[in-house]
Amino acid sequence: MSVTITPPTERTCELCGRVERWDEDVEGWRIDEEPGDVYCIHDWDINGTYAPFQE
Ligand SMILES: [Zn+2]
Repeated sequence: MSVTITPPTERTCELCGRVERWDEDVEGWRIDEEPGDVYCIHDWDINGTYAPFQE
């Protein structure tokens, strides 16, 4: 029996549209393409309703 939990690799702010991608090298989030609003508190779409990332 093997269960692999895949952590989220991408998240989007529902308030300003900021998109970040998980960087394993630095073990942190990096801006992917859309920086959004730097003063935004960011409400990430992966909060609470995380769905496994599937290819
Ligand atoms: Zn935001």
